Amino acid sequence: MKRLSWDQYFMAQSHLLASRSTCTRLVVGATIVRDKRIIAGGYNGSISGGVHCTDEGCYLIDGHCARTIHAEMNAILQCAKFGEPTEGAEIYVTHFPCVQCTKSIIQAGIRSVYYARDYRNHPYAEELFKTAKIAVKKVPFDNIFAVNEEDISGKQLAYIASLFKKLEESGVKKEELHNLYNQAEQLFARGM
Ligand SMILES: [Zn+2]
Ligand SMILES: [Zn+2]
Repeated sequence: MKRLSWDQYFMAQSHLLASRSTCTRLVVGATIVRDKRIIAGGYNGSISGGVHCTDEGCYLIDGHCARTIHAEMNAILQCAKFGEPTEGAEIYVTHFPCVQCTKSIIQAGIRSVYYARDYRNHPYAEELFKTAKIAVKKVPFDNIFAVNEEDISGKQLAYIASLFKKLEESGVKKEELHNLYNQAEQLFARGM
């Protein structure tokens, strides 16, 4: 196995944390690092002892899950709880932070943000980072550990695509194909 760079290593940690998420809407992990040392980690989930979205469904208010604390917030709160300074730290997140987390990251004194994938990147979040002179860098994560949404390999996807092609060639109706495709998309999520 090839030796990981620090960026890849901390990003791997965030993806590992994401696999502990209890919200069905999005699986996110965050790792706070200072001087190449992990000081905290979090994933998006309910408060300690609360019910999980994975058991009872999300609690939606205005299209957002109100039950969960975001991964970035959980990691920052872990620092608050255990008295670990976040001033000058770096954060590695699986997805581009939302506006709320962006503000918390800046206010916590975190100086660098590394994220693996774009996710509804809000222009206001980008602007806030820019104004606060926070270094924001995309670190695409090659899938060393398969995590929920990413565990469908390219080969499997190619196979499914070839099945759809065959179906189309054999004259299956457009709407029917469309329905099947939607089902496949739900089953295999995001990758298609
Ligand atoms: Zn939820
Ligand atoms: Zn957030």
